[in-house]
Amino acid sequence: MKNIPVIMIIFGGSGDLAHRKLYPSLFNLYEQGLIHDNFAVIGTARRPWSHEYLREQVSDAIHETHDQVDENEVKAFASHFYYQSHDVTNVEHYVTLKKLAQELDDRYSAQGNRLFYMAMAPRFFGTIATHINDQHLTGSGFNRIVVEKPFGHDIASAEQLNKEITASFDENDIFRIDHYLGKEMIQNIMPMRFTNPLIKNIWSGEYIKNIQITLAERLGVEARGGYYDTSGALRDMVQNHIFQIITLLAMPEPKDLSSDSVHQAKQELLKSLIIPTPEEVKKNFVRGQYLGSDTTFAYKKEPNVDPDSTTETYVAGKTKFTSGPIAGVPIYFRTGKEFKEKKTRIDIVLKHINNPYGQAHSNNITIEVDPESKIYITINGKKIDEPGIRREDLTYVFSKEEMAKVPDGYERLLHDVFVNDSTNFTHWSELKRYWEFIDAVEDAWQKENEAGNPEIAQYLPYRMGPKEADNIFESPTEHWIYE
Ligand code: NAD
Repeated sequence: MKNIPVIMIIFGGSGDLAHRKLYPSLFNLYEQGLIHDNFAVIGTARRPWSHEYLREQVSDAIHETHDQVDENEVKAFASHFYYQSHDVTNVEHYVTLKKLAQELDDRYSAQGNRLFYMAMAPRFFGTIATHINDQHLTGSGFNRIVVEKPFGHDIASAEQLNKEITASFDENDIFRIDHYLGKEMIQNIMPMRFTNPLIKNIWSGEYIKNIQITLAERLGVEARGGYYDTSGALRDMVQNHIFQIITLLAMPEPKDLSSDSVHQAKQELLKSLIIPTPEEVKKNFVRGQYLGSDTTFAYKKEPNVDPDSTTETYVAGKTKFTSGPIAGVPIYFRTGKEFKEKKTRIDIVLKHINNPYGQAHSNNITIEVDPESKIYITINGKKIDEPGIRREDLTYVFSKEEMAKVPDGYERLLHDVFVNDSTNFTHWSELKRYWEFIDAVEDAWQKENEAGNPEIAQYLPYRMGPKEADNIFESPTEHWIYE
């Protein structure tokens, strides 16, 4: 499908996400011809920018992300951008916006197609959705909406937001974006699991001892202390990215690759997600906060953070499913700020087998998602000139040339929105289940806070998080593989 006619409205057109991700991705899709003659983008935000100023910003965004560009192409692309100063809380502004969208629709023959993108602070998502509905901003063609994370703060607010969005949009037209689902190695999980007999046949509790997922961030909260203090690592990273990864690792094989079948497989799995009790939260979860160093603040001393904050900048936990190919296998996860390095990595740890050589290492399958893209399998073999077993890695790694060809996650996902493929977006029923799990943990923590005895491990910055996370394993033979 090429040259899709559409008027795209970006709420938050002057923001960081629009500048760093959306504009460069849209340019690449324009270069591929997916959107070309019949599209226009309306950037909205509060600032009093002009069309011309937005076009300069768009052009800058492209130059900042591309080594070589054809200036005429950039100019032609930027000419499709229009700016509308807009306060999302002001109803009258939606009337102006609707008028501009209609004018551009006529000018670009966009066939009444509308794509709304919520790229601003999540507290405004509900307001925007409500006014799209009551001011009738939808067009006469397709109407799709992309919603950034976080989708709600807990299940109640997520349900409320969903209600506001579904007043104007069908579930099939709501694209809840999680950019992890656009990452190369995350998209590689299904083919890896389902096309290799070597992997597919061992994907069960009989062979897999545990699965470990680490989303390590190097940075602290930086300027986002005020927002972060109301969220925390569990809501910020586990509710979305980590649960998406867990779902891809644990779901049954879909009957085909259609969006419906993939979501069906995910939903079937998620019914059997075990929601932890407060006792299990106490036993299987660790929350932590980073301490300061010579040059950096402790979390509680960061600007705009409550000095008595109980918000976690680190969480480790455990989950399991009662159905699916790896029913009963413990899945451990951890994420946090101020780790020793930025890395996203999945380790699948296989069980030992009895063998005449005695000690041998376990086979692990490791998927490195960020910053490198690679998969490696540890394998045992003979030592050359002495008795015993040595361990080697079989590695599947991308060359620099291949890496350069990998599109940014946002480009992939925007492409999917234009062609109406929701495979790599979060369905409402999945999101709801993730919140049920997160709420159970948050509620248990809240009760501990209220009882005045929250256990919040304080960890040294730029290492691997609190040592307490070594104690969440089910057996003494388990430990974190990535250390
Ligand atoms: P930002 O603060 O840089 O941008 C917010 C935008 O909203 C700005 O254009 C601002 O002018 C506008 N705005 C604020 N109040 C307004 C109002 N009352 N009326 C109209 N416009 C208003 O935020 P961001 O980093 O671009 O993030 C936007 C969304 O994208 C968030 O949901 C965030 O979680 C998500 N996100 C961002 C990134 C990223 O890399 N920046 C990555 C993943 C997800």
